[in-house]
Amino acid sequence: MVDLQTQYQKIKSEVDEAIISVIENANFINGPEVNQFKTDLESYLGVKYVIPCANGTDALQIALMALDLKPGDEVITPSFTYIATTEVIALLNLVPVFVDVLPDTYCIDPSKIEEAITSRTKAIVPVHLYGQCADMDAIIDIAKKHNLAVVEDTAQAIGAEYTHKDGSVSKAGTMGDIGCTSFFPSKNLGCYGDGGAMYTNDSHLASNLKKIANHGQVIKYHHEVVGCNSRLDTIQAAILKIKLRDLDNYCAARRKVADFYDNAFASIPQITVPARESKSTHVFHQYTVKLNGIDREALVSYLSEHGIPSMIYYPLPAHKQGMFKSFGKENQDLPVTNLLTTQVLSFPIHTEMEQEQLEYITKHIIHFIQTNA
Ligand SMILES: *Cc1c(COP(=O)(O)O)cnc(C)c1O
Repeated sequence: MVDLQTQYQKIKSEVDEAIISVIENANFINGPEVNQFKTDLESYLGVKYVIPCANGTDALQIALMALDLKPGDEVITPSFTYIATTEVIALLNLVPVFVDVLPDTYCIDPSKIEEAITSRTKAIVPVHLYGQCADMDAIIDIAKKHNLAVVEDTAQAIGAEYTHKDGSVSKAGTMGDIGCTSFFPSKNLGCYGDGGAMYTNDSHLASNLKKIANHGQVIKYHHEVVGCNSRLDTIQAAILKIKLRDLDNYCAARRKVADFYDNAFASIPQITVPARESKSTHVFHQYTVKLNGIDREALVSYLSEHGIPSMIYYPLPAHKQGMFKSFGKENQDLPVTNLLTTQVLSFPIHTEMEQEQLEYITKHIIHFIQTNA
């Protein structure tokens, strides 16, 4: 699905030098590169505070911890997402309240949010799924009206841009109260291990996030609140600092792959290509189509026999996961989510794809569909 080796070869000398320098200086924890990367990311995003942490799941957990919620408080979130988004809600003894997504963008449906709000609702966690922003103007309007916090899960959408009603443009993750991202190797800005970050424009939230990620302390050995230990390794920060400079090129390369797929599938009625919203750019963390009238499992095996990987993100929605059994939501009526889990399929997309690979992949997909439709 991704080709991280070829990408590495292009920046190898710089990356190797940066890693060796961290090792030679033995600055493994909170070395200067962490702060340098944090500052670079703040300017790239146009956000006041970036707080690096150990991974994207921690970012989401710490963000919710920073909101001072009480056990039993409700958090609205899509069920059609990677499990981390919803898992941290339950982990903190909060209640995940699942809302359906839109059939074209696969992101949370703002028109379904208000009916899910109760007196216990405290936050909304929209997910910018596959690399395109959820409808943030609509979500923020609802949040303001009901005095709710907004935590953006932007693990798949770093670099995406959202155009507001007034024409101003924001980077994904900088519109809500807190944005959370992941630097997992296969993410659009991936390091060579685990990594994550939180963003905010609010100085009070920024100091809370920083404190919680550091054992609840501001002054060493004085622990004001229960926190955790969540740091971005210096080696990872050194790598990310180099890769951040290429992020826009990486996004453009992904978009080119998506354009190729879109063109190739334009006359194939059994494939609905990903919608491109006018309000948000798409950075194509995944290229995910909807299949209509096609045996998905058979297509996956056919492609696999020809050396072509494909993935179902996600086959089982959160509300049907065993971990949420105690919430009794497995039969909740989320028609779009339930249908999407049977229809979606993601094809390989990364920064190093060659024309020849794309021709080979699309030729086989189309051949299967035309002979099995
Ligand atoms: C990857 C991902 C996460 C979690 O990131 P990790 O760094 O793997 O913990 C959270 N949410 C979404 C939508 C993701 O894709």
